[in-house]
Amino acid sequence: VKGAVPLREKSLLAALRRIAQSPGPRSRRGNRSVVKGIGDDCAVLRLPRGHELLVTTDFSLEGIHFLRGWHPAESVGHRCLTRGLSDIAAMGGEPLAAFLSLAVPRELPQTWVRQFTRGLLRLAEQHGVILAGGDTAESPQGILADIVVVGSVPKGQAILRSGARPGDRIFVSGELGGSMAALRQRKGKKKAAIEGYRRHFCPQPRVALGRALREQKLVSAMIDTSDGLSTDLSHICEESGVGAEIDAERIPRARVAKPEREVDLELALHGGEDYELLFTVPAGKPIPARIAEAKLTQIGRITRARGMVVRDASGAAGPLEPQGWEHFR
Ligand SMILES: [Mg+2]
Repeated sequence: VKGAVPLREKSLLAALRRIAQSPGPRSRRGNRSVVKGIGDDCAVLRLPRGHELLVTTDFSLEGIHFLRGWHPAESVGHRCLTRGLSDIAAMGGEPLAAFLSLAVPRELPQTWVRQFTRGLLRLAEQHGVILAGGDTAESPQGILADIVVVGSVPKGQAILRSGARPGDRIFVSGELGGSMAALRQRKGKKKAAIEGYRRHFCPQPRVALGRALREQKLVSAMIDTSDGLSTDLSHICEESGVGAEIDAERIPRARVAKPEREVDLELALHGGEDYELLFTVPAGKPIPARIAEAKLTQIGRITRARGMVVRDASGAAGPLEPQGWEHFR
């Protein structure tokens, strides 16, 4: 079967292998978990003693998660890995290795792949993560990237969605709605205005924050805001068998564009892909204003009554329905 692989695909694989086999100094130094990376039938990973394995997988599909004509290739690579790292962060884990499967159409310029890989590997290096394997293929239509991120967490300490209890306070890191705001301004403009919309083009997964919250045993449940506050909070409520009440005025709204302006409440409530952490804190545990450079804001509380409620400035309450975010369809 290997002989049937077209030359172009072989060279793509070789290029990926070359890049991945020379991980930056930071990845080499701190990361002893990859015993054997690219270059054998399987990668060989070693888990720190007393740890459990975390595994997450995410698609990045052209036309669904990104637009080739609008997103720079480096941003696509960065966002592809962010999805995986953010999931590891939401469990309070330590990311160790990434695996990339990439299918590209025949006519795609090599520079696109190089820039995509550069964006992905730069973020990997920042987090001490090694690209330890993957696959390449020719796609009949569009670019398809599938990222697998493997991480570790001390045994029994992974933070789940199911731990929220009535009376817990609800917190979110950073600001919300900034990523979706970039999509709004896209309409009518050809070129991406990257400055002012960095939350969309190079979101920073909250790995250090997730780890600190787990180490300090501050949280009862956690999730990353990949689908939008209303949807991600509904996942915590469902898994924990509880409800939630949110104060609209307290939601930290992103400031975007130049000159800066605050995004609409709707975007902060329902806009996805901010990759912040949403978590619940048991009564009596004080939360500092900042951890690991991330601003933390209390936005509501967990209730015994099922369902989600949003309260406006006057105190009037209305139902909060989970509204999934639209991709590019
Ligand atoms: Mg997630």
